[in-house]
Amino acid sequence: MNILIMTDIEGITGVDFWEQVHKHDWEGEELARERLMADTNAAVEGAFRAGADKVYVVDGHGGGSNFKKELLDPRATQISVLEYCDLYTREKIDACLEVGVHAKPGTLNAFLEHVQSSANWFSYKVNGKDYGEIAQGALYAGAFDVPLVMVSGDRATCNEAKETIGENVAVALVKEGIDWKHAESIDFKEAEKRICDAVEDGIRRRDEIKPLKVSLPITIDVTFLRADICDEFHKKYPNLERIDSRTLRRVSNEIKDYRDILLY
Ligand SMILES: [Zn+2]
Repeated sequence: MNILIMTDIEGITGVDFWEQVHKHDWEGEELARERLMADTNAAVEGAFRAGADKVYVVDGHGGGSNFKKELLDPRATQISVLEYCDLYTREKIDACLEVGVHAKPGTLNAFLEHVQSSANWFSYKVNGKDYGEIAQGALYAGAFDVPLVMVSGDRATCNEAKETIGENVAVALVKEGIDWKHAESIDFKEAEKRICDAVEDGIRRRDEIKPLKVSLPITIDVTFLRADICDEFHKKYPNLERIDSRTLRRVSNEIKDYRDILLY
């Protein structure tokens, strides 16, 4: 059994301040990276407890330079974001997990809610439905009949996972979002236990958890924060359809790799 663990940093235990994600070279960022490894390793442990033969992990935040590789559980196989883009076509994956993720834009009391870029993107819709990054990973996996079985993050993230995937997705609640810039994590050891347990539980119940699917063709609408940001994007990707002053649309007939659920 092969398991994929996608990671992000906003929903990692101990990442409770906006500056830990956006300001570099200080102790807050260092803690974030250490905790990223602790939460990831807890998920790796849970996957092996559930009987995994191979566990792939992706350092997903900001293209991937957050892992402290010397701290990664040596049983895990790290792959790059680029390798992840066509993973399911190369390899049979039995279940995927999302560790340390965050809620979609507009969610109340959600730490660092956004999709792709909090500086540029206002909303992301698939076939008219508002989605965020949880759905992006789940839709890509779903196109290959792979279920997203476990999510960890703040309360809003856990709620969104259940709304998006269904009540039976396993979740590990590791913090409360206070507002956009602040969260309050639970005890670190307790968080690792919750992650490990939820991973094991989700993988064991993977046959009961439905892969997330959308009807094809898939229509992706991204609304930017301002029209000038949309102008710049449209110049770079002129094949996208302009829907209004701030929205670009992409229609794909098939989901073949991860890029097909993105705008470009
Ligand atoms: Zn991120």
